[in-house]
Amino acid sequence: MTSPYFCPVCKSNRMRFTIIEQVPRYVRLHPQTGEMVAEILQGDLDAFHNPYRGDNFLVQCGVCSTIANEERFIKTAQNANATGALGQR
Ligand SMILES: [Zn+2]
Repeated sequence: MTSPYFCPVCKSNRMRFTIIEQVPRYVRLHPQTGEMVAEILQGDLDAFHNPYRGDNFLVQCGVCSTIANEERFIKTAQNANATGALGQR
């Protein structure tokens, strides 16, 4: 979080954000009942169980509640700054 954020949807928020940490849990379910029979550490996954490769966290706009990955908020801030620079010419 060292880059400015700007909400891509409401375009009114650069300050108020919620960081939503993604914490994967690897579980084994009973195939008939759905009951959880085991929770497995990532390092102990078998070859058929792919580890989580998504974002470590998501960002929610504190004003309009939009949720997206961090890149979207950063890119929107960069684009807004570029547009502002052009407007000053
Ligand atoms: Zn917003």
